[in-house]
Amino acid sequence: MSLEGAYDPVNIFAKIIQGKMPCAKVYEDEDVLSFMDAFPQSRGHTLVIPKTPVRNLLDVDAEMLQMLIERTQMIAKGVQRAFLPEGIILTQFNGAVAGQTVFHLHFHIIPAYADTELSGHGGTKMADMEQLQRHAAIVAAALDL
Ligand code: 5GP
Repeated sequence: MSLEGAYDPVNIFAKIIQGKMPCAKVYEDEDVLSFMDAFPQSRGHTLVIPKTPVRNLLDVDAEMLQMLIERTQMIAKGVQRAFLPEGIILTQFNGAVAGQTVFHLHFHIIPAYADTELSGHGGTKMADMEQLQRHAAIVAAALDL
């Protein structure tokens, strides 16, 4: 049982996995999907999600989690090469009280730049889709596959 009940099969990330909602895709394999956050906290803010329907860290099995964090590291290296931030923040929220807003497990890869303040988590300013697509393409090209 999850922190707050059952998995919602029509959450936004489930729709993205099913191709029913667009995303600026960075990477995809059998188990994992990665795409740009639509409300980025900084330039290059990227999400990594498992394709398995799990709400949060407590629900995922260890094998899937290991694979997910390995892919997250691989994609974070691509983000680093693509945008050259001075730092990278990795976040992951479990439960609404903790700040989770989409109830499908995901890691945030958030570039941190010395000269730019981060926007807040769960922002309301949606990024331009064409710009997100450009950013996704830059990261995708920088992945060491
Ligand atoms: P959480 O708050 O659950 O940790 O993170 C959910 C993230 O999903 C937020 O950073 C939010 O900006 C992002 N997000 C919400 N809706 C969409 C969407 O439709 N497309 C994309 N690409 N990201 C979204």
